[in-house]
Amino acid sequence: MPLSGLESAMQALMRKTSNAFDAALIEAPLPELRDDDWVLVKVAYAGVCGSDIKMLESDAVGQYAKLRPPVITGHEASGTIVAVGPAVTGWAAGDRVVYETTVDNCGVCRFCLSGDWNMCPSRKGLGSSMNGSFAEFVAMPVRNLHKVPDHVDLKTAALAEPLACGVHIVEEAGRVKRGENVLIIGPGPIGMCCGITAKANGARVIMLGTAHSRPRLKVAEEIGLTVLTNDAPDLEKAVMDLCGGELADISIDAAGSQSSFDQALHLVRKMGRIVIGAAPTHKPDPIVLDMTRFYRYQLQMFTAASTRPSGWKAAMQIMAASAGDLARLVGRCFPLSQWEEAFDVTRRKEGFKAMIAFV
Ligand SMILES: [Zn+2]
Ligand SMILES: [Zn+2]
Repeated sequence: MPLSGLESAMQALMRKTSNAFDAALIEAPLPELRDDDWVLVKVAYAGVCGSDIKMLESDAVGQYAKLRPPVITGHEASGTIVAVGPAVTGWAAGDRVVYETTVDNCGVCRFCLSGDWNMCPSRKGLGSSMNGSFAEFVAMPVRNLHKVPDHVDLKTAALAEPLACGVHIVEEAGRVKRGENVLIIGPGPIGMCCGITAKANGARVIMLGTAHSRPRLKVAEEIGLTVLTNDAPDLEKAVMDLCGGELADISIDAAGSQSSFDQALHLVRKMGRIVIGAAPTHKPDPIVLDMTRFYRYQLQMFTAASTRPSGWKAAMQIMAASAGDLARLVGRCFPLSQWEEAFDVTRRKEGFKAMIAFV
């Protein structure tokens, strides 16, 4: 595919081998359009995800490893189309886009047929098994694209992927309904995207965090969520007071630790639902379950990993309607040359979403 007018090389953050921490900036050729219905996107902003940190810090080996080095990492981004393949219709250079992260799913397995592309065994993930967005350019099939609403800036739009994760957790796994009390444990970017999604669905949201997370809880409060710190003397009573005398209808673990899981289990009412929405490590991760409580309360538990195409559609609607709330989650921006600083800020949980800025 001739890409006239574009430079021939780009800067990219490459995970080079399976060894932990073996990542470096490289000069890479521009990505190729693999098929006639692919497009080339010039990346504007690429968010740093907690999973990027976990992948960097772990060896890419074992049954749960998602990374297939050598690969350019990064899966949360926004950008502008700069070239389209000959079979592309409805999209043109200059269009502002965000893009889904599943590529090469088979299209015929039970999961593809039910819209659960994230479960397809052939799936490749942008930024883990296929070159991703910590690079000046990225190539992908046109079906992955979503148009950024005109009134939303590209920085805010780069939150589309975590927001689609929030939709998967809250709507698709949790089936949250209007009027329900939703307790979210962990006010990080995913927890906040869950909060924005639950609020958009008409639920009452209680965001629970540690005393250390007060700056994040303050933002949660400012966008209309009820907040609670887990140093409250009687957490169960505090939740019941906020939920009209009952525990929460649904609890979401957006932190992924033993203590957050215990809170999800013990702060939800009888016959309530628990959704595990946090990405655990890439190793087997045994967490202890109080089975007596789980059984006696007749609880239901769901998990939600990554995103489905239907969730992206909903996420783009929520983005259009709640752009102001979402914009509050944009954190510090760094040039790609300072990627280690961006990762450190994410590791220290400073602000919400640190981003690599290419503009
Ligand atoms: Zn992510
Ligand atoms: Zn499939």
